[in-house]
Amino acid sequence: MRRGFKTQAEKLALKHRSSFGVTAQDRLDPRQFLNDMGLIVWTPEEIPGMDESHVRQLTKADPDSWSGVTVREGGKTAIIVNSAHPVTRQANTLMHEWAHIELRHKPSRADRSVGGILLLSDYPAEIEDEADWLAGCILAPREGLLYHCGRGLASPEVAAHFGISEQLANWRIGKTGVLRQLGFR
Ligand SMILES: [Zn+2]
Repeated sequence: MRRGFKTQAEKLALKHRSSFGVTAQDRLDPRQFLNDMGLIVWTPEEIPGMDESHVRQLTKADPDSWSGVTVREGGKTAIIVNSAHPVTRQANTLMHEWAHIELRHKPSRADRSVGGILLLSDYPAEIEDEADWLAGCILAPREGLLYHCGRGLASPEVAAHFGISEQLANWRIGKTGVLRQLGFR
């Protein structure tokens, strides 16, 4: 990752949380946040005019093949999230896609569908790391982790509070070094 990016991402996450009206300690509702940003969030079932067989293919037949995709048409941007995944994973997927938009990442591929809808996918690996990092920052900011871990919350409780997976909570707690700072380790 670019030098200084991690710190910059924490700041950016807090700035966006604050404009949305939540602190670093609060849970962020991804859908509400994204709608507030003017973005559309759809599950495959919610895509207008989407064929039922396609919905079934995406959510039932092959639910592990994808987690989220961003589409653009006219001036509108929509994030499509895989509703077959747990909501905690959906939260991460949504904020990951948002991070690509926020950071103005250029996909290595942009396919146009028959209807002329632009599908943004396949970002370079370096850029995926940035999106993962920023998504983690906005869902569970370092400052918020410091607060909750400082009050004695363990990672499953932190995960439940922020509405994220335990895996993501562990990753964030580990990467941000909050336990070290608190003198727990
Ligand atoms: Zn990505």
